[in-house]
Amino acid sequence: MIDISIVIPLFNEEESIPELIQWISRVMDSHGFSYEVILVDDGSRDGSWKVIEELKGTYPIKGIRFNRNYGKSAALNTGFRFVSGEVVITMDADLQDSPDEIPELYRMIKDGNHLVSGWKRKRHDPISKTVPSKFFNWVTRILSGIRLHDFNCGLKAYDYRLVKTLEIYGEMHRYIPVIAKRNGFEKITEKEVVHRARKYGKTKFGLERFIYGFLDLLSISFVSKYKKRPMHFFGTLGTLSFLAGFFMVLWIIWEKLRAIYIIHTTDYRDVVEQPLFFLSLAAIIIGVQLFLAGFIGEMMVMNNHRKNDYIIDQTIGVE
Ligand code: UDP
Ligand code: MG
Repeated sequence: MIDISIVIPLFNEEESIPELIQWISRVMDSHGFSYEVILVDDGSRDGSWKVIEELKGTYPIKGIRFNRNYGKSAALNTGFRFVSGEVVITMDADLQDSPDEIPELYRMIKDGNHLVSGWKRKRHDPISKTVPSKFFNWVTRILSGIRLHDFNCGLKAYDYRLVKTLEIYGEMHRYIPVIAKRNGFEKITEKEVVHRARKYGKTKFGLERFIYGFLDLLSISFVSKYKKRPMHFFGTLGTLSFLAGFFMVLWIIWEKLRAIYIIHTTDYRDVVEQPLFFLSLAAIIIGVQLFLAGFIGEMMVMNNHRKNDYIIDQTIGVE
């Protein structure tokens, strides 16, 4: 096994790639690491792939090219399939992350950490990005119980075994530490890293990142809890709702019978004339619906083997 696999997702980063690869190779060589760089071209429309092809003779590079833009999570996910290093590093292609951090990150994984996340303490990004990002880190910290400052840092180091359990799509790259913890890799820590301003090109993420990111967090927290047992969630709610409705109906009937046979009065409200009746009706119907949702969920769990099939157009150096 080689020491380090560096996975780099990239989308229209032709200017940055050569500089980045040269820098990485300088750092790796000066520390005597054996390494590979896995460049995942996420459907770039500029000359990124050509640049990768030109570099492949000089550096230990694997290249993977998608037929279209699937997103950073898809690129990472696919890159992870091809790693063979004991320690896996991910970093952005835009030179905002510094390869000089890699040796220390490597050491921290070797020391027994499963995941070391970079922490861009001093960020060189516009305020429209840093302020919402603070908020999201705070929410994620609370929901996940993981004490990281910067969940979404592109620069991270992983134990090889952890990487092989990751299955990410959508915007889930923001929450890899959450998924790692769920998969049983709990030694998660952080390292302050140098962050630089973007030198070439421009950011690939707009404001929609926050909406999608938040929805993904909900589905991660929810799905991770109930993925294998949707009936526990829907079944419980459904049963509660059904029982509530059922007892309300019993109560209504009891009231009527009591009025007629025990109190002997004709001064009672008819069953369908009271709000409670409609409430119980709704509760019973909702209860049955939830129960059904649980059943259907269970069936899907039984049949569904989630496949991420991103189409790869071309590769370099991978079978
Ligand atoms: N990226 C990607 N696919 C995408 C969007 C981005 O592979 O659809 C890559 C991008 O090329 C870069 C990294 O993900 O290497 C981080 O993107 P960016 O620098 O735009 O994000 P920011 O630093 O603004 O958060
Ligand atoms: Mg960037």
